[in-house]
Amino acid sequence: MKIRDILAKNEPTLSFEVFPPKTEDKYESVEQAASEIAKLNPAFMSVTYGAGGGTSQYTVDIAASLKAKGVTPLAHLTCVSSTREKVHSVLDQLKAQGIENVLALRGDIPKDGKVEHDYRYASELIAEIKASGDFCIGAACYPEGHVESVNKTEDIQHLKEKVEAGCDFVTTQMFFDNNILYNYLYRVREKGITVPVIAGIMPVTNVAQIKRICSMSGTYLPARFKAIVDRFGDNPAAMKQAGIAYATEQIIDLIANHVNGIHVYSMNKPDVAAQIKNSLSEIIR
Ligand code: FAD
Repeated sequence: MKIRDILAKNEPTLSFEVFPPKTEDKYESVEQAASEIAKLNPAFMSVTYGAGGGTSQYTVDIAASLKAKGVTPLAHLTCVSSTREKVHSVLDQLKAQGIENVLALRGDIPKDGKVEHDYRYASELIAEIKASGDFCIGAACYPEGHVESVNKTEDIQHLKEKVEAGCDFVTTQMFFDNNILYNYLYRVREKGITVPVIAGIMPVTNVAQIKRICSMSGTYLPARFKAIVDRFGDNPAAMKQAGIAYATEQIIDLIANHVNGIHVYSMNKPDVAAQIKNSLSEIIR
């Protein structure tokens, strides 16, 4: 099923993300975690794409195994380190597996700065996917602005270019203050971008994760969130419980404010996904 058709119903949806293994020996455990999450019957599940494309086969394989379990898969695809040939070979594999949804991304610039020059921006990849078949295409957006963007206005202008190139929906980078999203949505709609915006929610369950988030510049941590980390950060079980509760509260507030698409960065953790899903059982059916 195409995700744009799922979103067109305009009802609250809950979806989850998994990431593929870096090495073959981890494949089985990732596949197992993905199938546990699939049992929660999400609206769809996304499978990320390893930077550089070296693990692209795992992305396709896990997406295909989710489809076989009856869950709509969304396969991510990045282009900055890929040749046109590589991109088309992945698209051909997705088509062969009947995978209809692609999240088209540029990908981060590698630390050594070496990039393939077939693509510079995600908008170019989107246009190419659009011309390559009947895919439903998603893209990334950044309520706090992308780290490289000069300012939010330009970033939103470039988001518009992605929509004009053919993307059907966008998913946000994680955020911990819903007001940032509401303000962003206002600006996005004002620019004439009308595609569905899916809110990306990260349940923060341990301190290492918070350190990673802080090192990714730009993500604002509200005082309310910092207080949780201060109080529970050195108690892993308490931090996990509080992190899941924080994410769940964010989701309830979003749905109350008619942000219907909720995508949880579930980080291959079926127990985290299950706790969120169960806490929302009367809110998202
Ligand atoms: P783009 O949309 O191309 O934007 C990149 C930057 O270029 C922005 O600052 C933008 O404002 C600017 N820009 C765009 N067009 C122009 C233009 N014409 N002229 C000048 N500037 C321009 N990474 C992975 O490696 N694998 C994944 O699976 C993955 N999944 C993700 C899922 C989501 C929901 C999100 C939010 C991010 C994901 N990422 C993933 C990270 C993403 O690849 C990085 O954030 C990357 O740096 C930007 O990708 P993009 O597709 O947003 O790029």
